[in-house]
Amino acid sequence: MFECKGNVETKYADLANSRVHQVFCHLSESIQEANELCSRLGQSNVKHWIDNFLNHVGESNYLPLSNDILIHVQSRKVSDIRNFTEMVLDALKDTESIVLKTFQTTIASTVQWNENPIPQIMNRLWGCEAKCMFCYEPCKNTDSDHITLGFPHQCIQHRPMGIRGFAWAGTDKFIVDFCNYSISTEKTYKWHENDEKEVWKYYKDYKKLYPDWDILPSSDVSKYWMWVVCKYQQEFADLYGFKLPDIPVHWWNITKEKAIESISSTSQT
Ligand SMILES: [Zn+2]
Ligand SMILES: [Zn+2]
Repeated sequence: MFECKGNVETKYADLANSRVHQVFCHLSESIQEANELCSRLGQSNVKHWIDNFLNHVGESNYLPLSNDILIHVQSRKVSDIRNFTEMVLDALKDTESIVLKTFQTTIASTVQWNENPIPQIMNRLWGCEAKCMFCYEPCKNTDSDHITLGFPHQCIQHRPMGIRGFAWAGTDKFIVDFCNYSISTEKTYKWHENDEKEVWKYYKDYKKLYPDWDILPSSDVSKYWMWVVCKYQQEFADLYGFKLPDIPVHWWNITKEKAIESISSTSQT
């Protein structure tokens, strides 16, 4: 935002320029409008000019101006409204340059925000906080209101369910299956809520419990997470108190480079 590359303006100055330009264009229009109205209505009094000017400025929210700040101009004797208008327009150009300069020289340590924008930006970037019920992968939607807008929770990819803390009943081995694969099979999982008795449920019926979710069935699963499981199986087993997983043989052929490459291609889909 405040990085300066060569003679190019910072992003902050660039954004400020367009906003400042809009505000000053509107002021310039309002000044000319005030002049035209005065000459059309035969008004030669500066008070009328100010009223006309403020009315036009108030038609938009660019700049909140009130009568108070022009109070000492109202009592001025102005003999020629047209001349007065030209003087104000000239002064406006200089003022715009001064305002622009302020933004052009602002840096990260001198900027003054009305309200710190970082939390808002982070909220926007983070988006929906929902996580897949099977693998805990975060929802991909950047709009936290996407459900009310009619879009279900979805993930860019899913991951082996052991990473979220699922183990096979009976053997206590870390589960390497991906949930987006399991929902296309007849496999079941044990489920219970609060004090209810545990029951077996089909992965494929997940929508009965989680109607707001959409898990796209796929056997094309993430190479990155395969590599993570191979590399950190012991750490995951220690973390959850599981036994080591039965890792499919071909997962061991995935190199770190291939794993990272797979993330880039996934994030571009
Ligand atoms: Zn998942
Ligand atoms: Zn979501």
